[in-house]
Amino acid sequence: MTLGSKIAWDDTVLPFQLDRADIRGRVTRLDGLLNRILGQHAYPPAVEALVAEAVVLTALIGQTVKLRWKLSLQIRGDGPVRMIATDYYGPEAEGAPARIRAYAAFDADAPGIRAETDPFALLGQGYFAIIIDQGPDMTPYQGITPLSGTRLADCAETYFAQSEQLPTRFALGLGRSTTQTEAEHWRAGGMMLQHMPKSSPHAQGGGSGAGGLLAPQDIVHGDDAENWNRVNILLDTVEDIELTGPRVQPTDLLVRLFHEEIPRVFDAQVVQFGCTCSVERVHESLSAFSPEDIAEMITDDGLITADCQFCNAHYELDPAALTATDGSGPDSGPNSGDATGDATGND
Ligand SMILES: [Zn+2]
Repeated sequence: MTLGSKIAWDDTVLPFQLDRADIRGRVTRLDGLLNRILGQHAYPPAVEALVAEAVVLTALIGQTVKLRWKLSLQIRGDGPVRMIATDYYGPEAEGAPARIRAYAAFDADAPGIRAETDPFALLGQGYFAIIIDQGPDMTPYQGITPLSGTRLADCAETYFAQSEQLPTRFALGLGRSTTQTEAEHWRAGGMMLQHMPKSSPHAQGGGSGAGGLLAPQDIVHGDDAENWNRVNILLDTVEDIELTGPRVQPTDLLVRLFHEEIPRVFDAQVVQFGCTCSVERVHESLSAFSPEDIAEMITDDGLITADCQFCNAHYELDPAALTATDGSGPDSGPNSGDATGDATGND
């Protein structure tokens, strides 16, 4: 490995296709992006692991969708970790980076929150949702499935089988890495395989997953099932170190795993940290409150403050400016619904 190849592949998503099996996929390597996201918070290790896993899934899934605005993952539980939220903003121009942000809401005093053994168990019962928002004047699309399995990747596989009828597999590797030249930091990698959409997908009978939910193998039949199984057996041979790198390059990994499946790669997508919070959005979200509610939010200093849960940006506003607003203030881009997430207090 050279330093050049490590830099070239870190924080990218590489799309590929297996022509023989009619399967598409993505490989991602994340380093700087993950550390920008996690470095803005001081989450317990298990919460960091959940956020990191959600970010890898977001990078893989977000890149498969033709996005004019954003794709979000929302994972909600009734356990000590109440929510993991991520946003993937599609590139604004050909060759531009996609941007990802993420945060967790959790009960810092809950017993077990500092444990590191089983992060997924901290979510308890809940659901996994994907929301696709194509911008203003478009109704966001939302799909939702119950939390199932033992990892977020299991939930994502169930989501695609149950909600989209698309057989999908994920192999993820993540953890804190130490090298001679770098301090301990998060590193992750992952691969996604997805059967190409069929014109009339259907499931026969109930699902074989937990609670009768559909599993990927429930929705492929005949030759498709044979191809799907063969490629999955190959994917099962992948090792964590091959996924996280940096020694094995993603292109070499595809050849190692799938050389008989005729892999074809497309242009890699660069992913960066990016938050869309702004003072205008805080104004916008506060405009939903009554003057009485606004009055209650004023601090001893005579200001209204808001913290962005994603990036920890701190906003201080003059209440007089708020009451004067007519809702037609400047807006830095399409936005629907994430302003409250941006402007509510951080927990
Ligand atoms: Zn922010």
